[in-house]
Amino acid sequence: MLYPTPIAKLIESYSKLPGIGVKTATRLAFYTIGMEDEVVNEFAKNLLAAKRELSYCSICGNLTDQDPCAICQDETRDQSIILIVEDSRDVSAMENIQEYHGLYHVLHGLISPMNGIGPDDINLKTLLTRLMENEVEEVIVATNATADGEATSMYISRVLKPAGIKVTRLARGLAVGADIEYADEVTLLRAIENRTEL
Ligand SMILES: [Zn+2]
Repeated sequence: MLYPTPIAKLIESYSKLPGIGVKTATRLAFYTIGMEDEVVNEFAKNLLAAKRELSYCSICGNLTDQDPCAICQDETRDQSIILIVEDSRDVSAMENIQEYHGLYHVLHGLISPMNGIGPDDINLKTLLTRLMENEVEEVIVATNATADGEATSMYISRVLKPAGIKVTRLARGLAVGADIEYADEVTLLRAIENRTEL
């Protein structure tokens, strides 16, 4: 099907989103054309602003519009404990239950021997720097209960334990393969409370 260039390009853009095939992209593109000018302007503006104004916190790696992020800047939070997660969505999930008051570290990935992703390919170096420069007593590894989550957890434990830092892992209230991001609040809360030392 041949479309005028502007809509063909819009379809192409939508096709780049995850889980969106050409058919859906075409539907979205035509839907967009039919939207009010004002709504489309707002949409375009939000896309650009999100990309322009957001960055990763230089301390914890969390997605933020200020550096350091609000959590790292908050001195009322327990500075002696760091919870390690795979990505920023996990930080939101934890913050939602309002029971964890320590700091975070976002890895932006997991160690994956199967896929050739090693410790240097994720945001681990800054964690080691943080641990050297601050009085951290406990690190909670809150990676998902997948093979890669386990590999990452094992690695962190192996590196940190000799340094005298207590390393704990979220309890197995989370089913194997479960995503922290989608865990319900009670499950997540129980997983933190019943964390086990590695
Ligand atoms: Zn931060």
